[in-house]
Amino acid sequence: MNIRIGNGYDIHRLGTERRLILGGVEIPHELGLMGHSDADVLTHAIMDAMLGALSLGDIGHYFPPTDPQWAGADSLVLLSQVNQLVRSHGWQIGNIDSVIVAERPKLKPHIKTMCDRLSTTLELQPNQIGIKATTNEKLGPVGREEGIAAYAVVLLVRD
Ligand code: MG
Repeated sequence: MNIRIGNGYDIHRLGTERRLILGGVEIPHELGLMGHSDADVLTHAIMDAMLGALSLGDIGHYFPPTDPQWAGADSLVLLSQVNQLVRSHGWQIGNIDSVIVAERPKLKPHIKTMCDRLSTTLELQPNQIGIKATTNEKLGPVGREEGIAAYAVVLLVRD
């Protein structure tokens, strides 16, 4: 088979005195995502989708939150490593589609920058990456602004 598909999901809590990083872009907001790394949920969901497509486990296996090496890590660096792993197995990304679920702030003005940053990191064209943003209609933990979640689907194509 010459194509494989993977999906990824991530959610992090929002807290004070943390930066909000999504898709490698720092977004001005009074709250940020909490976590061991920079807590970039979009990038984490994409990495899990890439790993899942090749049945290679999940990001917790490669970058355990107990490892001080990854404290405050830039998730784009981790994404680049996952991309090298995928390529080393003889696969490349066909396209990515993703959704960020956040009640606030408005993400639309930042989507293009996220797309540019992710496509540069993954050595793709920007039109190979879809990023959408939606609210949770004030429902549940995301709706109460307790966290931000992201979903991603990745199609891999054999080299
Ligand atoms: Mg995560």
